[in-house]
Amino acid sequence: MRSITHFIHGAAASSTGGRASDVLDPSTGAVQAQVHLGDAALLDQAIESAKKAQPDWAAVNPQRRARVLFRYKELIEAHMDELAALLSSEHGKVIADAKGDVQRGLEVVEFACGIPHLLKGDYTQGAGPGIDVYSMRQPLGIVAGITPFNFPAMIPLWMGAMAIACGNAFILKPSERDPSVPVRLAELALEAGLPEGIFNVVHGDKVMVDAILDHPDIKAVSFVGSSDIANYVYQRAAANGKRAQCMGGAKNHGIILPDADMDQAVADIVGAAYGSAGERCMALPVVTPVGEATAQAFRDKLVAAIETLRPGIPSDPQAQYGPLVTAQHKARVESYIQMAADEGAEIVVDGRGFSLQGYEEGFYLAPTLIDRVTPQMKSYQDEIFGPVLQILRAESFEEALSYPTNHQYGNGVAIFTRNGDYARRFAADVEVGMVGINVPIPVPVAYHSFGGWKRSGFGDLDQYGEDGVRFYTRTKKITQRWPSGGAVIDQSFVIPTMK
Ligand code: NAD
Repeated sequence: MRSITHFIHGAAASSTGGRASDVLDPSTGAVQAQVHLGDAALLDQAIESAKKAQPDWAAVNPQRRARVLFRYKELIEAHMDELAALLSSEHGKVIADAKGDVQRGLEVVEFACGIPHLLKGDYTQGAGPGIDVYSMRQPLGIVAGITPFNFPAMIPLWMGAMAIACGNAFILKPSERDPSVPVRLAELALEAGLPEGIFNVVHGDKVMVDAILDHPDIKAVSFVGSSDIANYVYQRAAANGKRAQCMGGAKNHGIILPDADMDQAVADIVGAAYGSAGERCMALPVVTPVGEATAQAFRDKLVAAIETLRPGIPSDPQAQYGPLVTAQHKARVESYIQMAADEGAEIVVDGRGFSLQGYEEGFYLAPTLIDRVTPQMKSYQDEIFGPVLQILRAESFEEALSYPTNHQYGNGVAIFTRNGDYARRFAADVEVGMVGINVPIPVPVAYHSFGGWKRSGFGDLDQYGEDGVRFYTRTKKITQRWPSGGAVIDQSFVIPTMK
């Protein structure tokens, strides 16, 4: 059986503790590999390696660091097919979607290639008599990223590309469910010319996460995953004096106003709800049509669209999405469908019981549509994270606006309308971090920043973009005056002001 080891100081490293976890092939249900699970002793090895390497890397001028990133970008592109196949084999998403996963991470690498410009500080000449003030952005030292299973290329690259470009050493703790692509990404970075020790990968579960959170040499922790764990990581990292940005779960709403282009909205929503088996933090698992006629038109068209959908194995080009990640997760999603039924919602299309011929042990679930959901239902309040779309009907724009605003999660939201006035009001008033206007999955491009509100995001800086630079650096502010040979300035016991 294949064994997936840690990657420390440019080489494979085995754990000492002997703990390991199964890595499945979700399309067959079979165990395909075992990943080593590390502990504090293993983390110490990664820290020692990072400590050795980081000062020299920070001293490399930003343009040369960018050149490594340019080569890294080219290498990732050259290995796109290999990365996508590996990613699909452990995650289960279809190959085209896996390429999108890599591509969205690659776009952050491209952004990070602009690091010389991004790290330029500010300068004020003559802030006072003979006084200049300037600021510089310096790396934090050693930083860590803890990532979820659902984007095993994109999210490690969101964090890693920015951390490294800023001159830090980066320690990645990827999801133990699909750990191979993160290791390949670290290997490719080495091949691109990144010094050994600047991108280390340590595998593990809570034991490793806690070791990271408690290690005094790690100055910042970036986390993406479910909300309870995001909150835990945030609290423990902050209590240990670390900078932390922790992205959590989601329950994104798609609002359809009566004037929307319904065919386009349905086409957008069907992809956003069921793509990647709904295992995206920017999926659209709730639709709120405004008015009975809108709801009926949407439901009719959606049911027709669902009939054309087909889950399948990742390499099947006809399949729109693949299996769920584990049998436990599939059972959890199914339990939410049952919960919705028990709560009084209407199961319009039930995806349970689906079996893919030849892959009967795979974790497949056919698309599910649930109507007449109410805000009081737990199946609505919780994140389900599967190919399940719920319809929560609203009678007015204000009512529709209130649902995402009052929900515990505030990651993404979309509104479908031709009315600019409503769209503007919606974007301004909704209590959600990322808004799409006739855009179903409004993941901001790499030169903006990504982050949700409320229980979707803990900490005050978002991922990538300029926030990424802020997160992985600290600013030093310098106020200088040089001897000019003039008269001695009188001593003063008063705080200097610009009066
Ligand atoms: P998860 O919370 O189970 O795991 C995330 C990371 O935390 C993994 O590295 C895992 O090993 C670690 N972990 C798991 N249990 C832990 C514990 N008890 N203590 C400490 N660490 C622990 O999340 P997941 O199932 O891998 O990913 C899906 C979740 O991530 C969904 O909730 C999804 O919405 C969310 N997500 C959010 C975003 C975002 O940007 N907001 C993006 C992608 C995924």
